Amino acid sequence: MDEEECFKVAVVGGGLAGLSAAEVLSSSTIFRKEDVVVLEASSSLGGRIQSVSGLAPWPVEIGPEFLHGTQNSSIKKLVDEMGCVQRELNFHILPILTFGR
Ligand SMILES: Cc1cc2nc3c(=O)[nH]c(=O)nc-3n(C[C@H](O)[C@H](O)[C@H](O)COP(=O)(O)OP(=O)(O)OC[C@H]3O[C@@H](n4cnc5c(N)ncnc54)[C@H](O)[C@@H]3O)c2cc1C
Repeated sequence: MDEEECFKVAVVGGGLAGLSAAEVLSSSTIFRKEDVVVLEASSSLGGRIQSVSGLAPWPVEIGPEFLHGTQNSSIKKLVDEMGCVQRELNFHILPILTFGR
């Protein structure tokens, strides 16, 4: 980043919350995209959302991958807007997988 650059809003953290806040702010009628900067401490964006390659023939999520409830969910809205592929899971099977019963 150029030392002389000037922003009106600094969002601290480039995880889901920070990136969502930056998106909402920069697409608002109050700020322009150039007014908003995201300051991220680590070398990559996404925070706890992490995909790794090489474990399987496909990318493996080592952070969040489930939408817990979809009624009035802002995450569900975001996922829909981004056109992400979604599959419904039957969570009743989870105790069986977890405890082997
Ligand atoms: C293994 C795992 C599985 C999960 N599974 C699910 C799931 O299935 N469904 C679900 O809904 N949720 C799940 N979660 C929770 C979900 O990951 C978090 O709720 C969500 O990602 C939090 O986003 P956030 O932006 O609030 O925080 P974070 O993702 O933690 O992002 C914060 C960011 O801010 C940066 N930061 C911190 N301090 C500073 C600073 N001083 N300056 C600059 N940058 C800074 C950090 O480096 C980080 O990138 C899971 C979490 C984990 C760890």
